Amino acid sequence: MITNKYNLGFFPTPMHKLENLSKKYSDYNIYIKRDDQTGLASGGNKTRKLEYLIKEAIDTNCNVVFTAGAQQSNHCRQTAAACALANIECHIIVKGNEPKQYQGNLLLSHLLGAKIHFTNNDDKEIDFNSYTEKLEKGKKAFIIPIGGSNITGTLGYVEAIKELKLQLEKQNVKIDYLFFASSSGGTQAGIMLGMQLYKLNFELIPIKIDKDANEKGELAEVVLNIINEGKTLLNIDTEYKLSDIPLNRNYNESEYGVLTNNEVSSINELALTEGILLDPVYTGRAFYGMLDCLKNKMVRKKSNILFWHTGGIPALFEYANGLTNINYRQQQ
Ligand SMILES: *Cc1c(COP(=O)(O)O)cnc(C)c1O
Repeated sequence: MITNKYNLGFFPTPMHKLENLSKKYSDYNIYIKRDDQTGLASGGNKTRKLEYLIKEAIDTNCNVVFTAGAQQSNHCRQTAAACALANIECHIIVKGNEPKQYQGNLLLSHLLGAKIHFTNNDDKEIDFNSYTEKLEKGKKAFIIPIGGSNITGTLGYVEAIKELKLQLEKQNVKIDYLFFASSSGGTQAGIMLGMQLYKLNFELIPIKIDKDANEKGELAEVVLNIINEGKTLLNIDTEYKLSDIPLNRNYNESEYGVLTNNEVSSINELALTEGILLDPVYTGRAFYGMLDCLKNKMVRKKSNILFWHTGGIPALFEYANGLTNINYRQQQ
């Protein structure tokens, strides 16, 4: 296994019980894994992936990184921070038109020195070559796919499972269900490979964030492909089929990045009970899904639930309008 990585974050991230929320949902013990606290330019799950990706960029003598994402991409913001730290030129290709004023993650990517290219088109698939072929002589590009979700980035979450296993042992906690947001597939593939490698067993309930398939295909297929590539690298001989890839598709009714009352209510609920912030795109949606499963008794009573907080806080500021919603608070 590749153990060589470029240190970018503070690990292990905390894992702790949500005491107030567990009192409120008294049939369950609810825990949280704080990858919103990885430390790299306000944290998030992309730190773990980038530790391996940046190392590969350096090892292959690349001095320029290209990546892409939505305007509020946490991945782009963290890539910009990682490149600043590793002294690598960073280009991010952002979908859509340049806004009059930068906000949230886009603003932070700018502050972190990334060169930002707008596609001026939301639908077109991103063609990295059209950008890298313009590079001056002496510059060598390293391309990081959307979300950092290839086998290299995925290794960050294989390692995260080892970290979690040690924490569970230390705190003497056994987890029955793990909830998290799944979008470009690397986090899920890493968690699944890690569970196999480190012999950890609980039910995975990945909440699918996107409504549509992404550029690489249907999410379950993307996850399966990364897992199959990882199996060879990690000497895992389990067979995985498409039906072995869990995905909860009940909460992606609105498109990617579209805020609904679901996300607003879960952001408010965790903020008011525990003083912890969720993000409007990923963790707000996934946390809503988790609470809904608890309310609807989709998980066993008396079980231990873990929510993996994957970060995303800076996007809150871009959604200020939708989040200044007092209706929810009045219902409490
Ligand atoms: C990217 C991201 C995810 C999804 O992780 P994937 O590996 O792309 O599935 C979840 N939460 C946040 C905050 C993210 O930025």
